[in-house]
Amino acid sequence: MAKQTQSYNAEIKQLLDLMIHSLYSHKEIFLRELISNASDAIDKLKFESLTNAKLLPENYQPSIRLEADKEARTLKIIDNGIGMSKDEVVEYIGTIAKSGTKKFAQMNDELKKRPELIGQFGVGFYSAFMVADEVTLHTQKAGEDNGVVWQSNGDGTYTIDEVPRPGGVGTTITLHLKKFADDEEVQDFTDAFVLKSTVKKYSDFISYPILMKGEKDDEVLNTQKALWLKSPSEVTADEYNEFYKHLTHDWNDPLKQIHYKAEGTLEFNALLYMPAKKPWNFNQREMEYGLSLFVKRVFIMSDCKELLPTYLRFVKGLVDSADLSLNVSREILQKDRQLTQIRKNVTNKILSALKEQLKDNREAYESFWTEFGATLKEGIANDSGNREKIQDLILFRSTVSDKWTTLDEYVNRMTANQKEIYFITGDNLNQISKSPYLEKLKQKNYEVLLMVDPVDEWVTQSLTEFKGKKIQSVTSSGLELDTEVEKKQKEEERKSFEERLKPLIENLKNGLKDQVKDVVVSDRLTETPVCLVSDKNDPSAHMQKLMSQMGSDYATSTKRILEINPKHALFDHMVSLSSDEQMKWADILYSQALLTEGSTLPDPVKFSRQIADLMVEVSQKKMNS
Ligand code: ADP
Repeated sequence: MAKQTQSYNAEIKQLLDLMIHSLYSHKEIFLRELISNASDAIDKLKFESLTNAKLLPENYQPSIRLEADKEARTLKIIDNGIGMSKDEVVEYIGTIAKSGTKKFAQMNDELKKRPELIGQFGVGFYSAFMVADEVTLHTQKAGEDNGVVWQSNGDGTYTIDEVPRPGGVGTTITLHLKKFADDEEVQDFTDAFVLKSTVKKYSDFISYPILMKGEKDDEVLNTQKALWLKSPSEVTADEYNEFYKHLTHDWNDPLKQIHYKAEGTLEFNALLYMPAKKPWNFNQREMEYGLSLFVKRVFIMSDCKELLPTYLRFVKGLVDSADLSLNVSREILQKDRQLTQIRKNVTNKILSALKEQLKDNREAYESFWTEFGATLKEGIANDSGNREKIQDLILFRSTVSDKWTTLDEYVNRMTANQKEIYFITGDNLNQISKSPYLEKLKQKNYEVLLMVDPVDEWVTQSLTEFKGKKIQSVTSSGLELDTEVEKKQKEEERKSFEERLKPLIENLKNGLKDQVKDVVVSDRLTETPVCLVSDKNDPSAHMQKLMSQMGSDYATSTKRILEINPKHALFDHMVSLSSDEQMKWADILYSQALLTEGSTLPDPVKFSRQIADLMVEVSQKKMNS
């Protein structure tokens, strides 16, 4: 193959531009990123060789080597890991993962303000361009006998060529270091002392030796202690944070780590992290999740899904088991009972760590909740075994204040008369906090939980009780807010209203027979004339909307009940209209009810015309009188 020149796609160009021109501080992290990649590559080679011993050279000694040349201003990072094929170089080094490109373009402005967010895109390799004006990557994949040279000076193109690599399998990255002005205060990365202290700071835990030529022999720069095997008291916060960055390629510090050793029938070490922020591709279909799995310090796989329930998919970290066989394949893993037990154990640990944080550091917990609360809540529906634990961890907004509340705190605030826990679901806080369904509860001084996550519809179907109190939707037709005495009184009132409005109600029912199940008099409303409620066991309006967004036509088949507020002046007037007119108005009332609950109108043009007609009618009457 002849040497080829190729252009980067637009996103990579933008990314490089940001790297080169916007990221001023912490330029030394490029070394962490390249050493991390080298260490991952050795992990992969060792894992592949478990099932294909031929891949390992004789007397294989994994290593990562740094070679600096002060005169030539070059720094080489050399590993004997798995290497890359030509296709892999093109795929991994020349593009941002397809799914990331769109997001990257959307975030471009944000990135200009906060360039450190770049780390989220898994662009570790490109960080080399923060310090280098030319980068050469020479790699050879295990099992292949030709190598690939990739070269770029970060300006928009790269070249690629096939050349055997002198050292055989592995990867060499050569950086030609830029000249920085003195006032830019960039360290000299050909200086042995600088390299040593950078490795010490960011990469000490890497489990393979990081070597550099010393005066006589090779010098090992890192202690290689597997962080997760140490006791937590021996690990500093910085070490935990750096290890997190190595593991996840996130450039931000995590919110919290959970580090423990399980002993007894099941023996393993776990080091788990709660990220501070959602990764950019969180909840996208191709998002990988799960923990890294090690067996007796040997890396087996990353993103092992069997180790985490889906509702904890935001957790990052690793498990190192002493019991599993080294000779495991992904297929076997899926059925492994030990993994199931580890998952249970890890799940418990995470849930109790969250409980502790909620108790001890509310602020940190709330920040966690804002990022991952909606995900954790899925556990209420998906993990019935842990529902009781998860329900204590949920935070809600409510009508009492704009702060978060737990169910427990809500129950403690309940007034003597209040029997149940009330909630309302919808698209956004502003809209549901003004909902007419809250009118009567406000009058009674009852707090209502405001739920706006799509998952809340499912949560409230599984979470129907807390501490013996029913959890009740305020839009359900079964809502009973009154005491026995009040009920009796109102029942009589209702009867007399019903008696008086009987012909009107019949006409409304007739006019709306295709839209609603029933029309009834209610005392739920104080200011609004009408609202729609779901029959006791029917899905709520919001649920129906979500279902239809998801493509289910189940939504359209469930009719609801129109409740009218008999004390509203509107109905005093309506009784005196002709039947025809009443039926015509019924349609407008129904549209109003839809609008009040935040639903969209099936025919907004018609509604607008009806209102205009009414306005004309009223003005004409005024003129004629
Ligand atoms: P990330 O490491 O976050 O995936 P990078 O841009 O640093 O992103 O690397 C992209 C991919 O290139 C890696 O996932 C890996 O597959 C490959 N790669 C990078 N460096 C090496 C290396 N030294 N040896 C083998 N493969 C590598």
